[in-house]
Amino acid sequence: MLSKKLNFITPSYTLGIASKVKLLRESGEKIINLSVGEPDFYTPETAKEWAKKAMDGNKTKYDAVSGLKEFKKAIIEKFENQNDLSYTESEIVVSSGAKHSITNSLIAILDPGDEVLIPKPYWVSYPEMVKLTGGVPVFVDTQKNNNYKVSPKDLEKAFTLKSKMLFLTNPSNPSGAVYTRDELLEIGAWCVKNNIWILADEIYERITFDRPFVSIASLSEAIKELTITVNGMSKSAAMTGWRIGYTGSSEELAKAMSAIQGHLVSHPATISQWAAYGAMAFCQDETEKMVETYKSRRDVAVKLLENEKDISLVKPEGAFYLFIDLSAYKSFFPDSESFSVDFCDKLLSEKKIAVVPGMAFGMDNFVRLAYACDTEELVAGLEGIKSFLSELE
Ligand code: PMP
Ligand code: GLU
Repeated sequence: MLSKKLNFITPSYTLGIASKVKLLRESGEKIINLSVGEPDFYTPETAKEWAKKAMDGNKTKYDAVSGLKEFKKAIIEKFENQNDLSYTESEIVVSSGAKHSITNSLIAILDPGDEVLIPKPYWVSYPEMVKLTGGVPVFVDTQKNNNYKVSPKDLEKAFTLKSKMLFLTNPSNPSGAVYTRDELLEIGAWCVKNNIWILADEIYERITFDRPFVSIASLSEAIKELTITVNGMSKSAAMTGWRIGYTGSSEELAKAMSAIQGHLVSHPATISQWAAYGAMAFCQDETEKMVETYKSRRDVAVKLLENEKDISLVKPEGAFYLFIDLSAYKSFFPDSESFSVDFCDKLLSEKKIAVVPGMAFGMDNFVRLAYACDTEELVAGLEGIKSFLSELE
């Protein structure tokens, strides 16, 4: 009796594992959680103060559909100062999380049967979001020697006359790869030539370690016109539960997204927007401290794994994930329908360590580890995985 759409939808692996870990912990099990990509930090105090102030000031009514004026102003300044991007108020839409920003974009752009190019590995929700909004996900293979970053050559192989949009996750979840300016210029030029929308998911943009981050929309007016720059507060300000995301795009698209959002949710919670305003306007130092901590964890993790002979790892330059190639261990799971799912189940039941199967990201020979946990837990998890691997052999 339910919609046929649901025949093709898989629930989110990442959120599924997160709830499994929560249940196990509640039942008294000690679990090392390297699964869900959720900052282990608390929301900065100043952001919470702004939420409290908003409640006490009775800022609890409906407000503008596309977002609070004050918050939009702070977003415009952020884009100018940190991303070399100039957007006006009518080009910004604030939504209930980056997930919501992405689905608004898809609803506004896709017609049934339109193809969306999704480079592999991809973030778990992209294909399902595309299917739910009437589009067709088309996966694009990437190359190991390019750190699994997509290139025009890869895109050319997947392109058809129905291709309408490219998902570009920078930094990448799950690989942590970060694109250089030259790589972005090439991808942008290819999209302009083929008139392809670019959904630039930059939610991890503040969490980059080795070189300055470049927003693809900042590279030319022609690229900017086709780009939806997606960002949000979940990762940069440890505000996952507040559910605030935002986009910068052409005014025409922003208007369309705003019309859609106006009917579906009105606007994101006003109190959350005030908290997000507080974080964006006054908590940049806290974000920088968090990033320093992620970087030191990244270094610890890479050091612990880089000399393991049967593990292949691309050094992540951003986000808070390690995407590990475990092809060498596949033969220990000969009857598996999905190697990565069985591997992760066994690791959880035998070592009480939770990680996410690569299947969720379109690459079944891999697993993803998140280092959004304290360094002690991370090291215990990595040592546990190493001993699990040696026991398999
Ligand atoms: N994009 C990527 C790449 C993500 O990893 C996530 C996970 N949080 C999101 C978008 C969605 O973030 P949120 O909806 O919490 O803003
Ligand atoms: N994006 C995070 C992850 O990949 C959080 C979970 C989710 O939103 O799916 O783990």
